[in-house]
Amino acid sequence: MKFNIAVLPGDGIGPEVMTEGVRVLESVGQKFNHQFILHYGDIGGIAIDRHGTALPQETLTISQNADAVLLAAVGGPKWDDPTAKVRPEDGLLGIRKELGLFANLRPVKIMPMLADATTIKPNVVQGVDLVVVRELTGGLYFGKPKKQWQTGRGRRAVDTLAYSEHEIERILRVGFELARTRRKKLASVDKANVLETSRLWRQIAIELAPEYPDIELQHVLVDSCAMRLIQRPTDFDVIVTENTFGDILTDEASMLAGSMGMLPSASLGTKNKGKLSLTGHSFGMYEPIHGSAPSRAGQNKANPIATILSVAMMLRYSLALAKEAAAIENAVLQVLKDGYRTYDIMEEGKSLVGTREMGSLIMKRL
Ligand code: NAD
Repeated sequence: MKFNIAVLPGDGIGPEVMTEGVRVLESVGQKFNHQFILHYGDIGGIAIDRHGTALPQETLTISQNADAVLLAAVGGPKWDDPTAKVRPEDGLLGIRKELGLFANLRPVKIMPMLADATTIKPNVVQGVDLVVVRELTGGLYFGKPKKQWQTGRGRRAVDTLAYSEHEIERILRVGFELARTRRKKLASVDKANVLETSRLWRQIAIELAPEYPDIELQHVLVDSCAMRLIQRPTDFDVIVTENTFGDILTDEASMLAGSMGMLPSASLGTKNKGKLSLTGHSFGMYEPIHGSAPSRAGQNKANPIATILSVAMMLRYSLALAKEAAAIENAVLQVLKDGYRTYDIMEEGKSLVGTREMGSLIMKRL
């Protein structure tokens, strides 16, 4: 089969980890007889430098025309000035919004051989297998007004937390549907004791529940969820939550897996106004959950596994190539079983490798 893939390496370690992701994708193409036509685009800081905007129209066009989008990471100290008019993250938020990618899926599955690599006790993390479904195009990050201004008594700033019924219902449905394909437990995370948007969220979750009688639904306050994720993470199967809570909880959850460098993500939408499908035909953008790790850039040190596993998610959710996705996931597992580690997951007695070598080892195991 033939697929068009938009490839957006971005900044910092982005280009390095993306190179390994693309090499693994091309190996899958050769092995399983598929053609992946790659269309490269600039996004983030590099796009600001080259085009004066974090999301050039050309990048958006190639992404809109592709079957799926692969993105690495954006940002870095060069573009960090808080008074700057354009910021690398504008590119990230912009492309999610423009492509209508409202559902962000972040699986956190502990690889048994990495249980000792986390800062949390191995007996707590052993067996963790959960997915956070994060609403991605609404809430605080997008609500208006969003501004800073000068008053007679100093500066003020405002962000707006707003959600519509439609936005809440469609993301909750993704949570319910995903739970159906797994252990049938859904934790809907909100702050209904304080926030009005959360009260609407909880009301809608309660209204939808009778349509999914096979799913065990529980409501968890976000502060309690943050605690339980560290205390008893194996209690969770699918967690569904709004944008800001999801952003914070997924970084926390990544520590269960040992490193941000291990975790992939999928951001799914309905490009052609169809129904969002979890069976391989959704339009999506796939990216590691980590940032551009500027202090590690250009040193052949970054862990490319999160990007490589994002490629696997793309094969599964957008290209309906489940067998190929599993081949990548197995190859990663085998290489870890063989004892190879990048610096971020390194332990005594294991073999330290760089970005490039980790990519080559995974390709060899495919
Ligand atoms: P970060 O995710 O880049 O790094 C956090 C920590 O994890 C650092 O210690 C880093 O060295 C390490 N790390 C991250 N990815 C790794 C990998 N693949 N292998 C090994 N170690 C890895 O977050 P940060 O330091 O807060 O932010 C750095 C820049 O990235 C900032 O400009 C920020 O705005 C941007 N950022 C971008 C995204 C994105 O593109 N999705 C997400 C978060 C942060």
